[in-house]
Amino acid sequence: MRQRADYLAALGLTDWRQRRPLAVQPQVQSGLPALRSAPAVEVEPASTAVLDDTWDAVAAEVAGCTRCELHQCRTNTVFGVGDRAANWLVVGEAPGADEDRQGEPFVGRAGQLLNAMLLGIGLSRDEVYIANVLKCRPPNNRDPAASEVAQCLPYLERQIALLKPRIMLAVGRIAAQNLLATDTPIGKLRGRVHAFGVQKIPLVVTYHPAYLLRSPTEKRKAWEDLKFARRVASGSLQ
Ligand code: URA
Repeated sequence: MRQRADYLAALGLTDWRQRRPLAVQPQVQSGLPALRSAPAVEVEPASTAVLDDTWDAVAAEVAGCTRCELHQCRTNTVFGVGDRAANWLVVGEAPGADEDRQGEPFVGRAGQLLNAMLLGIGLSRDEVYIANVLKCRPPNNRDPAASEVAQCLPYLERQIALLKPRIMLAVGRIAAQNLLATDTPIGKLRGRVHAFGVQKIPLVVTYHPAYLLRSPTEKRKAWEDLKFARRVASGSLQ
């Protein structure tokens, strides 16, 4: 098992030191809402159909989905991966070329960095659940169209209802803005606990690892976001 310092080094944070135990650290960002403990998430199904939903049913629908034109150019759908009983749900934007080829989210260079970021806060990839807003790759990795998101987001919402995560981590502007139904810039969405959906699942926003690969000086902010999310998940945020 690699040491935490190695993962921090992968994030370009070789000089970071934790100064105090987690539970007594001051708030990472100012203006944070008080959240003493992450609420247990009770999903209130809106209908019998939702009550009877299963992972297999959603996976089968995604595998055969033709709701939007992206199905015509995909190699594989990318449903999601990880522990279906995880506390953490990580949500990205859409599959890239590697993910389209392998049928799994975050397997390319951005995925390697995401894995390192998660390991930095003590989480292995198979301890969390990872999914995207879109299940199919947009051509040339263009931004998802609003109509594609509208067709695809219900799959993610069903995954969320089945998973009942304790915390959601939205990585990147596209994931954050679509999950929160806002066009607020990502810089303003960071550093706060948002509430996702009627279940009011705590949601924290950070930068996309692909962006961090292009802008490594922003990694320090992402590291602050991850520590913040860990505190939200553990209920230690005062
Ligand atoms: N970027 C994403 O947002 N998701 C992936 O699965 C891969 C790259």
